[in-house]
Formats: sequence, structure tokens, C-alpha cells
Amino acid sequence: MKIGFIGVGIMGSAMAANLLKAGHQLTIWNRSAEKCEALLALGASLAESPAAVARNSEIVCAMMADPLAVSSVRDGEQGIIAGLAPGQGYIDLSTIDAATSRETARLARQRGALFLEAPVAGSRKPAEDGALTIMAAGDKALYDQALPLLEAMGKKILFLGEVGSAARMKLANNLVMAGMLTALAEGMALASGSGLDLSQLLEVLDSGALSNPMFRLKGSAMAAQAGFPAAFPLKHMQKDLRLALQLAEELKQPLFATATVNELYKQALANGLGDSDFAAISSVVSSKRP
Ligand code: NAP
Repeated sequence: MKIGFIGVGIMGSAMAANLLKAGHQLTIWNRSAEKCEALLALGASLAESPAAVARNSEIVCAMMADPLAVSSVRDGEQGIIAGLAPGQGYIDLSTIDAATSRETARLARQRGALFLEAPVAGSRKPAEDGALTIMAAGDKALYDQALPLLEAMGKKILFLGEVGSAARMKLANNLVMAGMLTALAEGMALASGSGLDLSQLLEVLDSGALSNPMFRLKGSAMAAQAGFPAAFPLKHMQKDLRLALQLAEELKQPLFATATVNELYKQALANGLGDSDFAAISSVVSSKRP
């Protein structure tokens, strides 16, 4: 199939590589052109704008940082919408709010195209392994057509109904993730301050009901505090917390713990940790008062 892919950052580059491996013809575009080089070496073609990607594709995918990035590749003369023709598909894989996603659906449908929002769970390694969880919502006909593509990128694919459902599901997922990692960071700070061995704490956690892959993946780096190269950039997790709290505000749903966790993430951004992995939150938690 002729596929377009816009936004080849950490996740997009790995996901696009899996589409190439599955035998699809890929046209790509990224704001920073140098990030396209590895995919071009694997056989992708470069387009001059998001609109040109859309014109060259049966289905165009976008994997963007945040709502602003989504609209900047979507709108205007050079944007995806301008390049869409009736019957084409537009799949937005970014983690964003439901309102932005509904606006994309409206604009795509105005052009006679079909739309799917499809945010993903799983980080750099699951993206490389084609083992993501993909939450899709929107036009079911596009979902059915795109299933082979989604299966090349993910191992668990769900269809959640109307546009907005997948965006909200993804935000609920991520607030749990942020809360869990913050709790781990606090447990480690307490254990370390008490003179306990952090590898033993991780062993205790892993042997009971709290055992989970994320603690296994991030725990030793958090214990070592030796740098946090980004698999999931901290700035994106803070964006997810902000969007989850915005949704909670709309629903009049109190989220006591998430609001506090968000303040910690804001402090981490102020400390210059936005481009580090979100596990760097532990360095904010563990910094003691003098
Ligand atoms: P990333 O490496 O920071 O990539 C973000 C992409 O958005 C890049 O292509 C970037 O272009 C582009 N972008 C940002 N601002 C833009 C703008 N104003 N105009 C045009 N393009 C812009 O992020 P990522 O980790 O791949 O994450 C992408 C999305 O997936 C985010 O919504 C994130 O929350 C979500 N997600 C991430 C993970 C993870 O573990 N990393 C897991 C699940 C979901 P440049 O290259 O030019 O900066």
C-alpha cells in the first residue's frame, strides 16, 4: 500500500521502519529533515511538505509531539488536509486531546477522506519491535482497511468507537503510568534516605503484587541516577498530565494525586529535564532540602 508518514521522532521513526519492513511504499516528511535519513536509507521517499505526502499516499499517518504539532502539519496550504482527496485515509497516532482530534476528523471528512485517531501505548523498544498497544477510534471502514498497517506496528489493537474515545483512553492510561513512576521514585527516596539498598527494594517490589515491566525497565536507572536518555521524553509526559487534567476539569472529576504529580513534572521541566526520559522525575523527588 502507498503510505505517508509525517513525524519521524523517537516513535514515528521506529513505526515507519516497521511499515517499510512489512513491504509498504513509504513517503515521509519531518520538520527537522535530518531525522528522515535513516528511513530514506531503508527505501522511503522524501516529500517536500505534509500536503505532498498526502497527495502521494492512500493512507497518511502522523506521529506528532502534541496538539500544536498536530495542527501545524495538518493546516494551511502545505498541510495534510490540503493534500487529501476523497476516499483517502488520515490516521493520527499522536497523544493529544479529544477536541483537537475531533477537529482533525471534521477537516478530513470535509475533504471526503476518512479519519482515525490511534494513539499508542509502549515506548521506543515496543515501537521498534512492532509490539505497541494501539487504541483506534473513528471511521470503522478506515480501521478495517488499515488493520494490516496497525498490525505491522502493534501487537494489541483495539477499536474504541467514536473519535475522542481513544484520545481519552490514552490520557487515562498515562496518568496511571506517571503516578506509578512517581510513587516508585518516592519509595526509592525514602529507602535511600533510610540507608536501605535500592536493588533490594526493587527485588521486594518485583516479587509481589507490585511487580510490573515499567519498574523493571526504569528502576535500576532511577537507583543509579546516572543519566536518563529519552525513550519517553519527560516533556511529553507532562503534556499528557496537562491534557488529562484539562479533561478532568471538563468532566468536573477531581484528580487529587494527578494534580500533584503534574506539579512535580512542571518542576522537572523548570529544572531542564524536558528532553530526558520521564524516569528523570526521580531526580526531582530525590533532591533533598539542605
Ligand atoms: P519526539 O521524538 O519528540 O517526536 C515528536 C515529533 O513531532 C517530531 O517529528 C517533531 O519534529 C514533531 N514536532 C514537534 N513539534 C512540531 C511542530 N511545531 N511542527 C512540526 N513538527 C513538530 O516524540 P515521540 O516520543 O516520538 O512521541 C510522539 C508522540 O507519541 C507524542 O504525542 C508522545 O506523547 C506519544 N508517545 C510517545 C511514547 C514514547 O515512549 N516516546 C510512547 C507512546 C506515545 P522535529 O523532529 O522537527 O522535532
